[in-house]
Amino acid sequence: MDNCPICQKPADSTFLGDHDHRWWCAQCGKFIISGTAAQLLENQRATLDVGKLSQVVRQHPRDTEDWMCITSYNLNELIAAAG
Ligand SMILES: [Zn+2]
Repeated sequence: MDNCPICQKPADSTFLGDHDHRWWCAQCGKFIISGTAAQLLENQRATLDVGKLSQVVRQHPRDTEDWMCITSYNLNELIAAAG
């Protein structure tokens, strides 16, 4: 198990290639995060309410097969919703 890039609790991950990872986190739900978004998230972690962000991600509507995609395009939107 690795640590979830959002809440940092142990979670299952699968590398999808092209820096994308798929995460199955008990806390945040199922999501796919791009390498860029993961890096941006890491850079901002100190100033983030990660508990709140985790909640926003968990409650976010899912696309096909219950996965949600987090990219550099919607990450700021999610962070804003958590702030
Ligand atoms: Zn998580």
